[in-house]
Amino acid sequence: MDFGQTPAQSDAVAHARAQALAFDAALRPAEQAFWQAAGANGWLGYCLPTTAGGAGFDALTTVLAVEALGRAGVSRSALFAMGAHLFGCAMVMANHASAVDQQHWLPRLARGNAVGALALTEPEGGSDLADLDCTITEDGEALILNGVKTLVSNAPLADLFIVSARQDGARSALNNAALCVPRDTPGVSVAPATGSLGLRDAPMGRVTFDAVRLPATAYLAGKGRALPVILSAMQWERSCILAGFLGAADRDLVAVTGHLAARRDSKGSVLGHQAVLHSLAEVRASLESARWTLYRSAWALDQGEDPIFHPAASKLVVSRAIVSAARTLQEVMAGAGWLDTLGIASGLADVMGTLSASGSTFVQLNAIGARLARK
Ligand SMILES: Cc1cc2nc3c(=O)[nH]c(=O)nc-3n(C[C@H](O)[C@H](O)[C@H](O)COP(=O)(O)OP(=O)(O)OC[C@H]3O[C@@H](n4cnc5c(N)ncnc54)[C@H](O)[C@@H]3O)c2cc1C
Repeated sequence: MDFGQTPAQSDAVAHARAQALAFDAALRPAEQAFWQAAGANGWLGYCLPTTAGGAGFDALTTVLAVEALGRAGVSRSALFAMGAHLFGCAMVMANHASAVDQQHWLPRLARGNAVGALALTEPEGGSDLADLDCTITEDGEALILNGVKTLVSNAPLADLFIVSARQDGARSALNNAALCVPRDTPGVSVAPATGSLGLRDAPMGRVTFDAVRLPATAYLAGKGRALPVILSAMQWERSCILAGFLGAADRDLVAVTGHLAARRDSKGSVLGHQAVLHSLAEVRASLESARWTLYRSAWALDQGEDPIFHPAASKLVVSRAIVSAARTLQEVMAGAGWLDTLGIASGLADVMGTLSASGSTFVQLNAIGARLARK
């Protein structure tokens, strides 16, 4: 077993770090300029094929590079928005769209000239992907899409949606299809979400499809074939989207350690209190352990290993580790934490969303448990 990085991986990490340090932190993912700058840096095409304008990285190199972006200071909102775009939409298009749609969309998505979104969650629930209210009916050669999706990351400025919907008939995961739906299709409308707990700079919205007429080529992987599409979307999202958050947690740990080392009481630096140092040591060990689960899952994706267990385990372990880290850092920062010094309090709000995004903690546990029960 080799835990080292290849020279190409080290280069990707160093390059990502240098780009992140030079990136204009004032750019927000709610603005088109953010996407063009991220696209120009190659961040939106890390794991897209080179033929589509991507870097052709494997999943492991992708998570290493994205982790480096987070560690070097890219905001969690930006990391999340880019992850939803790349792993939830662009990779789905690369794996399942028609050749014509790939040719049209992938270079635009890689360059940031188009923004992508994955629209699965419905107002009545996001956990049960078999019980969809969104419907597709066929009208001759055309498909007619009706329904509402909610909590869709990037929706307010997305140009392309990946959408799950039920075919005529039974409510069943085997009776759903996945579609690619351009935003400018008549009948698509978006209402921006307001009042989220965290990730305030990551745009989110509700999308309504009102008798949206699509060509049959909008089917991804074919009629009634939502399962493989959603499986691959979840495999990429759950395996990769939190890599940058892990890097951001490292960055926060370093900042908080520095802050506490400089803070003094009658006995010297407050870092000299074992309780404080042990709290930071717990965070360090827990992030390290989550990191290896993250890398293992990305490697498993590259090797074609179990597409259910590894992504679910990675998402579960990493989200819990970063939430626990953020809570501990907030605790040891005490009053300075409350005043959001170093952005630790807002970081805690940001990471809370990772417990539900790409499927809740309990849904990950269901996936892992189902694998256990099968053996
Ligand atoms: C920051 C963020 C970004 C998001 N981005 C997107 C996006 O881009 N696209 C998108 O489609 N969605 C997105 N979501 C929505 C997310 O996928 C859903 O919140 C999640 O799937 C849970 O669905 P729900 O909120 O409707 O909860 P519900 O499905 O209503 O569940 C409520 C509670 O019941 C539990 N529960 C439900 N069913 C089961 C079960 N079978 N076993 C055990 N427990 C169960 C859940 O764990 C949860 O605790 C995002 C959410 C967040 C917070």
